[in-house]
Amino acid sequence: MKDHDRLVPGVRDMGSSATLDINERCKALAAEGREIFRLGLGQSPFPVPDLVVAALREHAGEKDYLPVAGLPELRWAVADYYRRRHQLDCDAAQVLIGPGSKQLLFLLQVIHKGTLLLPTPCWVTYAPQASVLGRKIRFIPTRRSDRWRLQPEDLDAACRQPGSKVLLLNYPDNPTGQTYTAQQLAALARVARKHRLVVVADEIYGELDFDDDHRSMAAHYAEGTIVSAGLSKWCGAGGWRLGTFVFPPALRGLQDAMMAVASETHSSVSAPVQYAAVVAYRGGKEIEDYLRNSRRIMGALLSHCAARLRAAGLQVAEPQGGFYFLADFETQRTALAKAGIENSAVLCNRLLQETGVALLPGAVFGREPEELLVRAACVDFDGTAALRAAARHYDGDLDNTFLAAHCARVLEACQRLADWCKA
Ligand code: PMP
Repeated sequence: MKDHDRLVPGVRDMGSSATLDINERCKALAAEGREIFRLGLGQSPFPVPDLVVAALREHAGEKDYLPVAGLPELRWAVADYYRRRHQLDCDAAQVLIGPGSKQLLFLLQVIHKGTLLLPTPCWVTYAPQASVLGRKIRFIPTRRSDRWRLQPEDLDAACRQPGSKVLLLNYPDNPTGQTYTAQQLAALARVARKHRLVVVADEIYGELDFDDDHRSMAAHYAEGTIVSAGLSKWCGAGGWRLGTFVFPPALRGLQDAMMAVASETHSSVSAPVQYAAVVAYRGGKEIEDYLRNSRRIMGALLSHCAARLRAAGLQVAEPQGGFYFLADFETQRTALAKAGIENSAVLCNRLLQETGVALLPGAVFGREPEELLVRAACVDFDGTAALRAAARHYDGDLDNTFLAAHCARVLEACQRLADWCKA
């Protein structure tokens, strides 16, 4: 029997994650002495705030298993954060702490048998998780003319067939950098209510809305929205592995089922990390300053990059939050075809070879391979130095002088992409 035949059907054709692949290729090129600009993998460039690191150090001796749902003080702090920041009516009993929101998203799919509705482009992991478990997926392609936002009528059309469904709604969005206004969320909420959808609002980049104006879907569709987030993005702590789900009381059955599976799988999240997370969620001036400067830096950088690529003829919607933007090379299709470039994977390979800039192809975000879409993660800079400089030396908007001094590699990468387009 070949190893392949021993595998369950959902994983037989699963490759390794696209984001990890690009990392491997970058390493290989770097080993040949090539200069590589890492705009592929999207982790936070910023350090964990000092007071949160200090709290982790202080609690390094915590060694006991914690409750499956999470440390009570942390569940309380998370609920308080949502009351404070988003005026959500929620209490600690609704909070579930997990080892990264990725794991919580997976466990939700373990316990929920419905069809997964995925507006595309969407984060690389949602669909493989559903496939592993043999869940049905319905992709809902969004349009560039709608700035890649899910439209209520498209959601309605995707709900016509009977059966329970989960909508995954991510904003600020990975990969497009787009978000929704309160009005747009309200319109989606009306459709969700009509079809009694479970909505998982993946708001992990919410604190990185450049205008600090993130609205939770739970404010519009309280009874059916699970809010997914965690420390990885706004607190720079991806490697700490701490994610949060906030359930509405009406979905208590799903919450209990997830806790039952969690108790038989990961048990609980690392104790010291949970104690440190209490400090992060409690907030205060140091955290607010850290967030304000993170938003200023990412906002200025993404806006600058998007403008530079638009000037080179690409189509890029103005980024509104997070670390990413999506560039469309459609305007260059004829010229690219002459150079043998007819899909996003080949486009990314050629860009990596010819400019040293690592990007991810639109195809891994659930788009048609022949669409000439690429995602840039603008994180190849020293976030610690940039935060320090933004806090000390700059009051208003961060200008090009700041970006040239502190985000030079990202600027150089965008310049190389622009020059490549012109050539
Ligand atoms: N959702 C989105 C949209 C993401 O980009 C990521 C991380 N790349 C996650 C969820 C998962 O984050 P974590 O598991 O670290 O909480």
